[in-house]
Amino acid sequence: MTLADRLDHLESRIQAACASVGRPRDSVTLIAVSKTVPIETIAEAYGLGLRDFGESKLQEALPKIEALPKDIRWHFIGKLQSNKARRAAQACQVIHTLESEAQLKEMSKITGTVDGLIEVNIGEEPQKSGVLPGELDRFWARTLDCLAIRLRGLMAIGPDTEDLEQTRRLFAQMRLLNERLGGQWLSIGMSGDFEVAIQEGASHVRVGTALFGARR
Ligand SMILES: *Cc1c(COP(=O)(O)O)cnc(C)c1O
Repeated sequence: MTLADRLDHLESRIQAACASVGRPRDSVTLIAVSKTVPIETIAEAYGLGLRDFGESKLQEALPKIEALPKDIRWHFIGKLQSNKARRAAQACQVIHTLESEAQLKEMSKITGTVDGLIEVNIGEEPQKSGVLPGELDRFWARTLDCLAIRLRGLMAIGPDTEDLEQTRRLFAQMRLLNERLGGQWLSIGMSGDFEVAIQEGASHVRVGTALFGARR
């Protein structure tokens, strides 16, 4: 299958998921997760109309950002060390992985502003990054104080399970947390669970494998 075929197939699945809960297609942004994907393939995806790309390592993202068209919106979705937070916030349009005060401190040094989402460890999984639900109110308030960040909402990575109903419950909790805090964007859903995420209220889905194929 060509990239165009995979995008068509993915797009019809996204449309079907939107239709299944009566959501308009334009209420969901597809982020093409391009980590490990070479610049030429990203350029091909751009040629097919995609404008939102996700990267998880700054050193990999920077040369891509430099080389590719300036109207791309780059989403930083990886673990963000505080010593790289300033550079990431300058180079990318959206940071999905806010989780520490040290990051906020570094990001407050940028010129201008960046869109930000707080990553939540919704399943309270020890191996995962993100703010625990019980610490979220406090971190949300601290992030609002950081004038360099336009706080847009929450992000989470679904649990490592085949049980999509468990995933659905956690995504539904994310939606409630986000609504309670007044978040507008909700970044949930990857190749294995984006349909459930759309049904549970995702504004952004982050899809790599289902678009670009398996990563080496
Ligand atoms: C790699 C990655 C994705 C995309 O994962 P796929 O399963 O390939 O769609 C989404 N979100 C984050 C945070 C990632 O690191």
